[in-house]
Order: sequence, then C-alpha cells, then structure tokens
Amino acid sequence: MRTYRIATIPGDGIGKEVVPAGRRVLEAIAAGSPNFRFDFEDFDWGGDYYRKHGVMMPADGLDALRGKDAILFGSAGDPHIPDHVTLWGLRLKICQGFDQYANVRPTRILPGIDAPLKRCAPKDLDWVIVRENSEGEYSGVGGRAHQGHPIEVATDVSIMTRAGVERILRFAFRLAQSRPRKRLTVITKSNAQRHAMVMWDEIALQVSKEFPDVKCDKELVDAATARMVNRPATLDTIVATNLHADILSDLAAALAGSLGIAPTANLDPERRYPSMFEPIHGSAFDIMGKGLANPVGTFWSAVMMLEHLGERSAARQLMEAIERVTANPALHTGDLGGKATTAEVTEAVCAMLASNAAANSQAA
Ligand code: NAD
Ligand code: MN
Repeated sequence: MRTYRIATIPGDGIGKEVVPAGRRVLEAIAAGSPNFRFDFEDFDWGGDYYRKHGVMMPADGLDALRGKDAILFGSAGDPHIPDHVTLWGLRLKICQGFDQYANVRPTRILPGIDAPLKRCAPKDLDWVIVRENSEGEYSGVGGRAHQGHPIEVATDVSIMTRAGVERILRFAFRLAQSRPRKRLTVITKSNAQRHAMVMWDEIALQVSKEFPDVKCDKELVDAATARMVNRPATLDTIVATNLHADILSDLAAALAGSLGIAPTANLDPERRYPSMFEPIHGSAFDIMGKGLANPVGTFWSAVMMLEHLGERSAARQLMEAIERVTANPALHTGDLGGKATTAEVTEAVCAMLASNAAANSQAA
C-alpha cells in the first residue's frame, strides 16, 4: 500500500471551505482503494498568519513542503491585505520556489451545466490551456521610484528566456500529442510586442519540428478571445504566456459555465519538487464564510492530482462521481443558479464514491 504525503494549504476566503471539502473527497477515494492512502498535513498560511507574523508563510516554509508528493491549495487573497502582498507572499512563492513552470488548465462543459454559448454543443468545447508559469509578465522584475511625486515612475518588466519558452512549448506539444486531436494553438501578440513575442513564434516553429504529428497553428491573443467564443471547436490544446493565458483561462472557465468549476495544476514536469493543485478561482469575498462555495473546481483539481500521482483509475472514478453530481441540478451551488451548499455537494460526491466502491467489491 502506497502512502502519498499531501500538504493542504487552504489559505484565505473560500479556500478555507473548499480545501477541507477536497480533502474529504480524497479521503473517500482512498478508503475505496486497496492501493494507496493519504497522509495529509495542513498549513495555516495566508491572511490570518500574516496578521500574526507579518508574513504570509514562514521563511523556511518551502522546506516544510519539499518532501511532499503534492500540494492542494485554496486561495491567497484577503479583503484587508493588498492583493500583490498575498499573491507574491504565498502562491507565487511556492510556484516559483518549486519551479512549477507549467500551469495546466483543462476546460470542458460538464454534464448538467448551463453554459453561456448557446450555439455550442458541450462536446465542442474541450480545451486544455497551458500557461507559462515562471517568467514573462509576472517575473516580478521592475520597480517604482519617486512615489507620490509627479515624476513617479513604475515598471513591470516582462522577462522571456529561450530556456523558459522552449520548455513550456515542448511541454505543450507533448500534451497536445497525448490528446486525441493532436492539435496545438500557440497564442502570442507578436504584431505589437515585437521582441519577446517574435522569439516565441520562432521557438514554436523550431519545437514543432520535433512533433510532426501535432497540427500546430498560431493566433494573436485578441483574436483568440473571439475565436474561443465564435469557433470553440477549432481549439484543443492552447499555449500562451503567463499573462495572456491567465486572462484566457478565466474566459474559458466562464464559457464552461462557472469560475467555481475550473481546476488547475502547477506542475514541475521534471518532478524535482512537489506540484501544486488548486481551483482557479480566488477567495470570493462576497460569499466567504457562508458555506456556499462551489467545491467542484477543487475536486477536479484533486482529479489532476491523482493523475499526476499515477493513480489513473482513482482519477477516473472521481471525475465520474463529479460529473454525476453536476448532472443533477438539485446539487448545483449558487454560481450555477442552484441552492446547494458546499457540504451537500461534497457529501453527494463522497456518497457516489462509496456506492461505486461497494459495487466494485461486489463485482470482484
Ligand atoms: P474570485 O475568483 O475570488 O471571485 C470572482 C467571482 O466568482 C465572485 O463573485 C465569486 O463569488 C465567484 N466565485 C469564485 N469562485 C467561486 C466558487 N468556488 N463558488 C461560487 N462562486 C465563486 O476573484 P476576485 O474577486 O477577482 O478575487 C478575490 C481575491 O482572491 C483577491 O484577493 C484576489 O487576489 C484573490 N485571487 C487569488 C487567486 C489564487 O490564489 N489562485 C486567484 C484569483 C484571485
Ligand atoms: Mn487568474
């Protein structure tokens, strides 16, 4: 029996509601499997920790996570602390500290979900967005001088390295190759940004030669938004910079029905460090503390975690349970137009897993 060591970091806002829900569901799936179990360790980092200690996580925090097999994360963002402090002090510290350079965001319209694109059949929207997660516009390079004076100046320098671009493109090509349609769209803005984005296009062309079976095209990011809405079926795997893919994936999540459903994985594909799995939504200040958060984004992120750990059958079982729950409108949370609570959705998924496990053991 294999034991996976999992760090849970609920963070702030509804992260404190959806991460415990995710842990419950993972415990339920392990209870039904003879092959593995989980050893969870919870970390109370985030806004409350900041109020006590002046930092979002301790200075040696990464060392506490280093030996874990994976991290399940909620959200960083507190109504009383500036967003750039919470984000850089916790989530980006982990992403960059563990060089989780590939951010992977699958998007599908799950059964039972009323998505806004009325001309699009659910099967026409099946994408994976790959976001460069270590450099680019969010490299953190820049500064401010003469603050508050009329001559004040501020810069955010976008850093693109050949090594960084090459590794994310190669990852995206490999992912596209593993999907049935073997299709990759490389998104840049190489008309207006004439240095780094032109380098992206050049490197994409070079890397594409290593993957002759992948059909590759390119699109400018502004045109890509229109294409996502008007011709969703022409897209499959998508790769873009840190900023562009951040924006495109919120659009993708909305087109799939709700931000509350969308999952993401921050991967170190070389597995030198633990990878981190999280719903793409934030702290949701408007509903936090009320038990109304949709936990499905966290559950789907847990599916990605199981896949990363190599537990394919458990991943499939959990995804099936999630889809059977979304198919029932009585189990929809407020973001989907329903009245269900976080706890009700969580119990329903756990019950589905338990009944599957019982059916399997009877069949065996
Ligand atoms: P948000 O995702 O928190 O909320 C946007 C809207 O979507 C809100 O109306 C919210 O109620 C709704 N929503 C989001 N997730 C939901 C869920 N699971 N169930 C039901 N409704 C849901 O985005 P925001 O308002 O831009 O950000 C709020 C805070 O979260 C900010 O501090 C921001 O910096 C932070 N944030 C953190 C992360 C992260 O840690 N990965 C990501 C995004 C935002
Ligand atoms: Mn975002």
